[in-house]
Amino acid sequence: MFRKNPPEGEMPGPEDFRFTDPEIPAVACCCPARPTVKVIMPPAAGRPHPVDLWLCGHHYRASLAALLAAGATVEDLTAPPARPQADQVAAPA
Ligand SMILES: [Zn+2]
Repeated sequence: MFRKNPPEGEMPGPEDFRFTDPEIPAVACCCPARPTVKVIMPPAAGRPHPVDLWLCGHHYRASLAALLAAGATVEDLTAPPARPQADQVAAPA
């Protein structure tokens, strides 16, 4: 039942790359959940450089209006890595 190595034919299916990509933190910035999106906050008064925020789906949806107002860029971590989806949520300048 709890074997260290699964026998041939019992290998796990395709993994969610959020769990294997070393560049994605195991815990979101907002809560102990896995991050679903990477939000890049643009520079602003008192913040001279962009800041990355790793948010879970729940807190991303809860913060969406504020993120839109701040002109944040959102990268969906659930998208396949071969086709990264960087969506600019702010209106183009
Ligand atoms: Zn959260």
